[in-house]
Amino acid sequence: MKPVVPFVPEATSHERDMWQEELGRTLAPYATVKPFEKLTDDERQTATVAIVANPDPADVAALPNLVWVQSLWAGVERLTAELPQDGPLIVRLADPQMADTMSEAVLAWTLYVHRDMPRYMHQQRDKVWQEQLLKTPQERTVGVLGLGKLGSASAQRLSANGFRVLGWSRGEKTRDGIICFHGKEGLFNLLGQSDIVVILVPLTSETRGMLGSEELNGCKKGAAIINFARGPILDVDALVAALDRGHLSHAVLDVFDEEPLTPESPLWQHDKVTVLPHISAPTITGTASMIVARNIRAYLESGRIPQHVDRMQGY
Ligand code: NDP
Repeated sequence: MKPVVPFVPEATSHERDMWQEELGRTLAPYATVKPFEKLTDDERQTATVAIVANPDPADVAALPNLVWVQSLWAGVERLTAELPQDGPLIVRLADPQMADTMSEAVLAWTLYVHRDMPRYMHQQRDKVWQEQLLKTPQERTVGVLGLGKLGSASAQRLSANGFRVLGWSRGEKTRDGIICFHGKEGLFNLLGQSDIVVILVPLTSETRGMLGSEELNGCKKGAAIINFARGPILDVDALVAALDRGHLSHAVLDVFDEEPLTPESPLWQHDKVTVLPHISAPTITGTASMIVARNIRAYLESGRIPQHVDRMQGY
């Protein structure tokens, strides 16, 4: 009999049936993928690996013998914050396709700011015919916060498109063509030089609220912010204050403290804010399920567990 692998998606997921079908098909030669709510008591007790997608941590805790969980999401802050330290190991989705998709989004929205598109949209609305001064990519510095899988791919794509690129990470790093910083001093150094700041660090206890008024005031005057990581990393009140007094020029926000963004949020109407509905790098079903199937097959055949999250660091 093939082992049963539970699938535990978030309660509100509208994609659960699609994932269930895709994972079921891809893993069929090695395992039976079964939705959490259909597991028998025995299957709950014997499962040692589960596939999760931003699940309710209480559902994961209801599988007491899990050794590890494979996330379909790259961001696993809810699991790292709420699962006990001695709970199952957490494996994030590491899909090269996702890095490619994210770097495309970073390039697209960097170009949107770089080519003054928000301002031309306002000019059209106000029937203003006026050319703005054009800068070349070489004259713009883009600072990328986070040089992991997504940040590195994005920094390299920006650099290949002619931008001067700075990067920032927790530990010291070298990346071809990227000027790398680390530490608090490094952060202020990067912020002070960047025309566009792209946030791609994970949400951890260290990065929560990391960009507040002190850091935003430390940004170059007229800089724009692109947050593609997680909402709580950026203090939105401090951001709006910096936009309103003209210190920052624009913000492209794909992630928020509360998602979906509530209809009452002032961000919807703010002239200097572009709101996106968490779309910069969605998980691609086809490539992600192949990676998940490969990981789970290796575990079932040899007991090998893929590289997992460091619970002390939170990512
Ligand atoms: P990685 O774990 O590969 O990289 C994280 C990077 O952030 C590393 O360079 C790490 O430094 C750096 N970092 C972590 N903590 C700190 C800190 N305290 N100070 C400075 N740097 C820090 O993550 P990914 O690149 O795969 O993903 C980044 C995030 O993107 C995810 O956590 C997720 O939240 C978000 N995301 C958003 C999506 C969207 O659609 N909007 C889609 C997918 C992911 P070091 O290299 O030294 O370890």
